[in-house]
Amino acid sequence: MKISFSAYMHTVQPLVNFPGGLINMDQLIIPRHQRRKDKVVVVMGATGTGKSRLSIDLATRFDAEIINSDKMQVYKGLDIVTNKVTDDECRGVPHHLLGIIDPDSDFSARDFVHHASLAADAITHRGRLPIIAGGSNSFVKALVSDDIEFRSKYECCFLWVDVSMSVLHSFVSKRVDQMVRAGLVEEAKEFFEPGGNYTRGIRRAIGVPEMDGFFRCENVVDDVTTRAKFLEEAIDEIKANTRNLACCQFRNILKLEEQLEWRIHRINATEAFLKHMLMRPGMVVGPSMRIVGREDQI
Ligand code: ATP
Repeated sequence: MKISFSAYMHTVQPLVNFPGGLINMDQLIIPRHQRRKDKVVVVMGATGTGKSRLSIDLATRFDAEIINSDKMQVYKGLDIVTNKVTDDECRGVPHHLLGIIDPDSDFSARDFVHHASLAADAITHRGRLPIIAGGSNSFVKALVSDDIEFRSKYECCFLWVDVSMSVLHSFVSKRVDQMVRAGLVEEAKEFFEPGGNYTRGIRRAIGVPEMDGFFRCENVVDDVTTRAKFLEEAIDEIKANTRNLACCQFRNILKLEEQLEWRIHRINATEAFLKHMLMRPGMVVGPSMRIVGREDQI
């Protein structure tokens, strides 16, 4: 059953002792400037941990909309390479900043702060809960730590979907194989230019620069075995870079937790993973729902 976020909060609102008896906090008329800040949920985690799935699960239980914070998924194109959620997977939950930016332009952390703030304001005005989800911790830091305006308006509830690195490493390698079967090579080829620049826009996405050697070889080498070897090397490099990205993201979250003293709720999703890659979402969603719904979670 879908419940509005404010309705959910109402059920957990503490009753306060007030002259004349107990009253519910919601019944107090509080001037706008004294009101509590609006809540934003921030779902963090390394690539492949199931952030998107958890965010959608939460959004279907609370009345929420999702703001993407993956710096490659903001661009149009490369849906397989960047592992964007499909329309089916979205289950009707509105997503913001997903696949909307010109792939040749550079979308900076500053741009993210601007657009994500506007999206969060609009979602909140609709009486809904904004859920920021994605792996780009530099974007999240810029928004919730460096942007004074955002900080003054919103309280963040941080959820960290954590999966043990050894389990995650074998999963992301299998995921790359699945992406290849789904059309990663053909998709990356659309962005191939001999002597191309892989330092701007969507071309930086893991899966594009790694394929460059194979596409160049394809144009000049007829031998099938040699071509297959180049392809295999490219795929191995994609796997290695994805595993490396997962490790970097893990370290960056730890750093944010330590340096910025954020209270991040770490949810161990390893067991759920081992039980058929999140086929039992309740194991992750249940604790997350309780954290998101609590008043004292910040
Ligand atoms: P950094 O400061 O290292 O860029 P970050 O938190 O800003 O960290 P990440 O999301 O960790 O950014 O991305 C780092 C790099 O990993 C990107 O520049 C890109 O090359 C690659 N990358 C990130 N997300 C994806 C994705 N969804 N698909 C493919 N590649 C990605």
